[in-house]
Amino acid sequence: MSKTIVLTGAGGVICSTLASALAKQGHKIAVLDLRKDAADKVADSINKDGGSAIGIAANVLEKESLIQAKMEVNNAFGKCDILVNGAGGNHPLGTTSNPFLVAEDLMNNDDGFKTFFDLDVNGIQFVFNLNFIGTLLPTQVFAMDMVGREDCSVLNISSMNAFTPLTKIPAYSGAKAAVSNFTQWLAVHFSKVGIRVNALAPGFFLTDQNRTLLTNTDGSLTARGNQIIDQTPMGRFGEPEDLIGTTLWLCGEGAKFVTGVVVPIDGGFAAYSGV
Ligand code: NAD
Repeated sequence: MSKTIVLTGAGGVICSTLASALAKQGHKIAVLDLRKDAADKVADSINKDGGSAIGIAANVLEKESLIQAKMEVNNAFGKCDILVNGAGGNHPLGTTSNPFLVAEDLMNNDDGFKTFFDLDVNGIQFVFNLNFIGTLLPTQVFAMDMVGREDCSVLNISSMNAFTPLTKIPAYSGAKAAVSNFTQWLAVHFSKVGIRVNALAPGFFLTDQNRTLLTNTDGSLTARGNQIIDQTPMGRFGEPEDLIGTTLWLCGEGAKFVTGVVVPIDGGFAAYSGV
């Protein structure tokens, strides 16, 4: 049955792929993004392929903006059945330069060099807001449409770093751990009103956010990129398309008794101890 599906951050790499895949199943797609041009581009491409989509400018950190977006969705497609909370990301100000602190680092005055002691609270707050508040607020707005109806669900995007934090990115790891925890909390809270809540935990996907961390300008892998591939039993980065199967399952009939799960899609990264 055709559903109305709202995806936030859907002008980006991962959620634009999920939006197209969901559109191909016959669903009506609201493509929300801070960047209206990116949202429109994704919606246009879905419509050109015979699907049904609209692009809407929305900031997941501003309730008013989300309420406005919901009115547009309701006018175009009716009530929201499924929400995919895809907006998220990291910030350099919440990232350390080295994985391990050594005493000499405290003498390093290089421009931009950051130890744990230099982390900027504004950068950390940015990351916590974008990932956690940016999941909570759209759910407050769009899940109102779902209460007491059938086959409605929320799909959050956590990360494999929520299970075990990655070096250098304490803010992003902590924020995604909060998203996983919230997924379980909300699944329980919504269990009596017919709304399932689950999450994807993608491993490493080469996107604009992490390209410079993982690859050099000539396309070869950085030391960190190599380390990740060595630590991934399946020996490659993920492709956004790798997330489609789990998304269709969690948003569909086949998962009607599934709620509160966080599914790793990481080529075995989280399961591997490295030995
Ligand atoms: P992306 O940067 O390509 O897309 C993110 C989108 O969110 C962008 O289009 C951006 O404009 C939008 N956005 C940013 N701030 C916003 C705001 N305040 N309101 C509305 N939209 C906003 O990133 P991506 O790789 O597609 O990531 C999608 C999700 O997957 C994120 O939650 C990310 O943390 C998560 N994730 C990514 C990876 C990876 O390897 N790329 C791994 C694990 C989890």
